[in-house]
Amino acid sequence: MYGRVVGTRWLTPGLLRLTLGGEGLDGFGMVDATDAYINVAIPPAGAEYGEIFDPREVRDSRPREQWPARRRYTVRRWDPELRLLEVDFVVHGVEGVAGPWAAAAREGTVLVFEGPAGGYRPDPEADWHLLVGDESALPAIAASLDALPEGALGVVRLVCDGPEHEIDLRSPGRLDLRWLHRTGSPSDADLLLDSLREIAFPRGRMHAFVHGEADEIRGIRRHLLIDHGYQRSEMSCSPYWRRHMTDEAWREVKRDFVTAMEDEVA
Ligand SMILES: Cc1cc2nc3c(=O)[nH]c(=O)nc-3n(C[C@H](O)[C@H](O)[C@H](O)COP(=O)(O)OP(=O)(O)OC[C@H]3O[C@@H](n4cnc5c(N)ncnc54)[C@H](O)[C@@H]3O)c2cc1C
Repeated sequence: MYGRVVGTRWLTPGLLRLTLGGEGLDGFGMVDATDAYINVAIPPAGAEYGEIFDPREVRDSRPREQWPARRRYTVRRWDPELRLLEVDFVVHGVEGVAGPWAAAAREGTVLVFEGPAGGYRPDPEADWHLLVGDESALPAIAASLDALPEGALGVVRLVCDGPEHEIDLRSPGRLDLRWLHRTGSPSDADLLLDSLREIAFPRGRMHAFVHGEADEIRGIRRHLLIDHGYQRSEMSCSPYWRRHMTDEAWREVKRDFVTAMEDEVA
């Protein structure tokens, strides 16, 4: 499956929305999840195959250096009538594959992908919702806020680089929303957890969505399970990326990391 860029818009200085369209999206089967993601395939510079390709076929038939880089990105919005797919990319400097690829994308650029898949949607039966993350989780959190039941309480804590990196978030729910700003110090990694420690958690059944940088997510998960006694079934909690690691390096160790994280608080 593939989409062609039909629009680019900087939502903040570090977050770029690409709108994809075209006949390559025929048959796109959206899943019933607000954290739906696609598995994008970005070819290396000088790839010896066309812009539209089958990632599996390339892997099976070409040497490793020709394989596309794989990354996961959230479906911010899918409009089946207009056949438009919105994906928001964090452009975190010049490092990486997907961030720089998105920054260089122009109208007509092709994005090949597989999916979508996903597993979370705010539970309409929950008494309140906790949504926590960084810019990489912002598309899924924004999509989840769109889907909150009318009047439902959403407690939202987001970390970003400063006021100009905040986006306007709307919801039919009632939001207790706070943005936290990094200062460039190592303690930035504690901002989200520290802000959760300050919350007087509402009574009743919580449903949480906590995603972002691996070590930050691990600490928050521990806090919710141990300090508050929540159940794993009450939260969707997973590391999207890892500081100082490319996605390739992270995928090599992710399974062990998640096993250790789960063993810590089973
Ligand atoms: C299910 C799922 C959904 C996701 N949805 C989105 C999404 O909608 N939008 C989005 O932008 N990301 C999303 N991510 C995260 C994204 O896949 C990773 O951030 C990915 O590593 C980015 O690839 P890259 O090629 O730009 O950088 P890489 O080549 O993977 O990494 C290069 C360097 O950049 C660092 N880095 C990677 N990501 C970030 C970041 N977000 N901020 C700062 N530094 C970073 C790495 O630690 C490394 O040092 C999602 C991840 C998952 C698993």
